[in-house]
Amino acid sequence: MYKIMTPGPTQVPENVRMARSLACTNPDLDENFVSFYKETCELISSLLHTKNETLILSGEGILGLEAACASLTEPGDKVLVLDNGIYGRGFADFVTMYGGCPEIFHADELHALPADELAAFLKEHHDYAYATVVHCDTPSGVLNDIHRICPLLKEYGILTVVDSVSGMFGEDVRVDDAGIDILCGGSQKAVSAPPGLTFLTVSDDAKQKMKKRKTPIASFYANLSVFEGYYEKKWFPYTMPISDIYGLRAAFDNIAADKELLSRHARIGEATRAALIDVGLSLHLKDGYSNTVTVFDVPKETTADAILTTMRDKHGIMLAGSFDDLAGKVIRIGHMGANANIADMTVTMTALSDTLTSLGVPLTADLGLSFMQHLKE
Ligand SMILES: *Cc1c(COP(=O)(O)O)cnc(C)c1O
Repeated sequence: MYKIMTPGPTQVPENVRMARSLACTNPDLDENFVSFYKETCELISSLLHTKNETLILSGEGILGLEAACASLTEPGDKVLVLDNGIYGRGFADFVTMYGGCPEIFHADELHALPADELAAFLKEHHDYAYATVVHCDTPSGVLNDIHRICPLLKEYGILTVVDSVSGMFGEDVRVDDAGIDILCGGSQKAVSAPPGLTFLTVSDDAKQKMKKRKTPIASFYANLSVFEGYYEKKWFPYTMPISDIYGLRAAFDNIAADKELLSRHARIGEATRAALIDVGLSLHLKDGYSNTVTVFDVPKETTADAILTTMRDKHGIMLAGSFDDLAGKVIRIGHMGANANIADMTVTMTALSDTLTSLGVPLTADLGLSFMQHLKE
């Protein structure tokens, strides 16, 4: 078994795994389960600071992104796709698939999305049905200021779809303050449940857009409106994955009880970045660092493969490379959710120090010691 210090899936605490082994009822017929589902959704809404309804769908994080686009896009709709990373531009595919016309607002991938430039752009261009933005674009780790960006879009009546799959619960998310119409989350990142579930918060404006459609939503599984009235009708559109949802609830109970969740992420994120800089490595980004994942450039003396293999085979720790145009160029340390603990991160940084040194990368100090020093600051 490896210690998975990856930016999702993350480690899953024992009480979450235990909850998944509870006795099962028939989730279609047992009204207690309908209440359990609704209470779990309400807990998620409250943790995300919103009055909007949450829905849990049976499918991994990608289903959430697709369901948002499938449900909101009508053929011919113009959709603004904010892009400073791989997930950012990925939204354009879903928009196209459901008949929309994506328009990409491209920004430098080494920086957080420039909100001032977006504001200037919107003055001239604002005829969009909705816009998509990624909170933390995980392949590079860039963090976008959704609490600034979404209100800019809402000023023009543009609905907002936010992918915070790898941001939420490691970074602050206040859905109502930001005016987020559909927020997409997943079970396997900072929530620290196994992969398999996605959940979305859906605003009344988003529901209105679905209601007023002239064309039906071209999907059943990715159609958010099929959940309408499920609680009153005691009826789910399909059989719910009950064990997954028991596990998810335990994960959210953990989050609700953890008063230091965000401050711990900030402390660990900052110490990780500072330690990497201390020893002479270079962070991949120029700004917009997320406290859920740290990404550094592969030093010229070695390769991503060599680092990942040595970490895994010699130290039993899994880090991640990246994909698309970042493949082979960067290493990612996932310190979100259950991974955001000092013991695991100290072991990881110490092992990384040993790994890099053994591969001929000259470090000016020990990463583990430097990490511990910065934690004290
Ligand atoms: C993990 C993640 C998702 C979910 O998709 P995967 O299948 O795990 O890639 C969606 N968006 C972001 C930003 C993610 O980090």
